[in-house]
Amino acid sequence: MPELPEVETVRRGLEQKLNNFIISSVEVCRDSTVAYPINKQEFIEGLQGSLIYKWGRRGKYLIAELKKFKNNSVEIISEETTKGNGYLIVHLRMTGYFTFTKNSSKPCKHTRIRIFDNNNNELRYIDLRSFGQMWWVKEGLSPNNVIKGLGSLGPEPFSENFDVNYLNKIISKRKSPIKSILLDQKIIAGIGNIYADESLYAAGISPFRESNTIKKNELIKLKASIIDVLKKSIGSGGTTFSDFRDLEGETGNFGLQTNVYRRTGKECRKCKNLIERKKIAGRSTHWCRTCQK
Ligand SMILES: [Zn+2]
Repeated sequence: MPELPEVETVRRGLEQKLNNFIISSVEVCRDSTVAYPINKQEFIEGLQGSLIYKWGRRGKYLIAELKKFKNNSVEIISEETTKGNGYLIVHLRMTGYFTFTKNSSKPCKHTRIRIFDNNNNELRYIDLRSFGQMWWVKEGLSPNNVIKGLGSLGPEPFSENFDVNYLNKIISKRKSPIKSILLDQKIIAGIGNIYADESLYAAGISPFRESNTIKKNELIKLKASIIDVLKKSIGSGGTTFSDFRDLEGETGNFGLQTNVYRRTGKECRKCKNLIERKKIAGRSTHWCRTCQK
């Protein structure tokens, strides 16, 4: 599943490729991909004529700010000529990805949504397992109210609200393993299995530790490790492990080398003991018994 670094990589790709992209038509190939409005025709008509103005991200959600031209003629994009037209929001879930093609080719059978501009450029959304979702939240409605998962997200790891005091407050009240705390999107936005395992290894903390036993100096290290691991991963475009593709549909070319994730039975890079795997709350957890206490 794409996590924060992969979604951020997609966001940057979309921002780069979709410069002044004005949606002329939308084709919904699979109805269930449209999560909102319930009526897919409303989704299609809502998007038509919209300028994709800006691509943002919150947790694992991609959020495109839309604008419409006031007098139907496309002119210079400015505050005077445009008005807000809500948001196009996307969650890639397990296997969703975008491609951007200049001369529209025949869509593969996993194509879910096709978005075209007037020059026959196509932003295509493909999703093998079809858990991904899209929302058009019209102007005046709050995306946080329409999408529960979005409204309940905890702070972004790179935001000021995510600090040691915040983490301390959260863990001091909880006995659950620290790994499950890191995976909880209501506590921290954007971290999934890969980056939880890698951050805990970097901080030297066992994923099984009861959260309220973690001391302040360990929390300082954990917070720094999370930031460091995420930043490094964004820099290398994500990991090879999530079924993640960039806008060209490429997969497997991303540079981040993991220390524990999917290295079961391999030597720890620090101590040479073997990396182990065990499930926590249904998720495979990888760790080094010697380096993580
Ligand atoms: Zn080790």
